[in-house]
Amino acid sequence: MFQDFNYLRKYTLLNAINHFGPISRTSLVEISGYRPATVGAYINEFIENKLVIESGSISNGHGRNRVMLEINRLHLCAICISFSPRHITLVVVQTNGEIIAQKKVSFSPESPSRATLREVTDTVSSFLRDFEDKKFIGIGLCKFLFEYDHDRTALDEWIVSELIPELDSLTDIPAYSFSDVSLPSIAEKNFGVARDKQNFIWINMANDIRASLFCGGHDVRGADNAAGALGHMVVDFHAHDTLCTCGSRGCVERVAAWPAVERSIAEAMRSGVSTKLTASGITPEDLSIINVRRALDEGDRLCAYSVKKAAREIGLAVANAVNLLNPEMVVTHGFMLQLGRTFKDELEATIRENVLPENEAVEICISNDFENPMLLGAAAEIFSTFLCADNYQWLYTLSVTDHE
Ligand SMILES: [Zn+2]
Repeated sequence: MFQDFNYLRKYTLLNAINHFGPISRTSLVEISGYRPATVGAYINEFIENKLVIESGSISNGHGRNRVMLEINRLHLCAICISFSPRHITLVVVQTNGEIIAQKKVSFSPESPSRATLREVTDTVSSFLRDFEDKKFIGIGLCKFLFEYDHDRTALDEWIVSELIPELDSLTDIPAYSFSDVSLPSIAEKNFGVARDKQNFIWINMANDIRASLFCGGHDVRGADNAAGALGHMVVDFHAHDTLCTCGSRGCVERVAAWPAVERSIAEAMRSGVSTKLTASGITPEDLSIINVRRALDEGDRLCAYSVKKAAREIGLAVANAVNLLNPEMVVTHGFMLQLGRTFKDELEATIRENVLPENEAVEICISNDFENPMLLGAAAEIFSTFLCADNYQWLYTLSVTDHE
């Protein structure tokens, strides 16, 4: 059984403050069943350690004010590190979701060097120095699931055998490794548009198409941390063009992600299709999402055709995912949203046309403008680990009176 009741009480109170805060001492006594003196003593300890702050007071209707308590989200921080095919991004994230420092280090994932290791550990040291008045509760390493044509064996090896031991010798802040598949939905659940949702699908639409899933109040990782590969759902069974990075043909990522849109417009331009892009002096070689958007706004028919076709193909894949999972919300993310109404309206119309009647109420939202959803997701996971939050889910079913 529980060896240490202090530990149990402490985490029950911290979780209650996290979940229900701002909350008064009186309500904490009601929720926990602990004696007022016990609750008072723990709260004093939390305040002394800057884990909790007093955040104003409300009247209880009998002439006395109750002082409210909440987690000190500006004090608790995490350092999160992500690895992409070109660089390592390091950030300091407060547990309110705000990134307060950021640095990018260029590197080669095929053969990370000693210099890269030094640059990463120097950055971590400088973060710890610059924010020495804050409490760091963890270092999160976000493993980026590269596209299929990137071999990440050398990077994984380097993280485990060089980076983590070096971080361990630098600081006693615990380091955690996270798989990236569920971090974007965790970020959206903690800091974004899906805060009050238990079931939603997050979709990235950029150079790749990817989903991150949240079902029944939990993120979905799958047996091998590979859930959410929406981009490799086949939507064009008759596609004969080159293979997708996964080795298949007709995947939605291959036929409708931004590189496919760019390719189809460029090919049409080369074959002489008239477009406002040519009139603006744009060649097939210097297409960008900004000049395609400008052409769309001017009513260009070629760009509208290619962009709507991609939106329909992505919409079909999303509708299939919606029918499979019955979510409350679809959260759209990624730079393809910069294509504007032409893209978004066609995407939403296709989703709505293809979902079953029981899914008609699904909300379709645009993600909060997170540049680094994975790093924010990792920070949320570290905070949850710090609070042992999963062990205290029973608190979520309780109700308190402070909000009435
Ligand atoms: Zn594929």
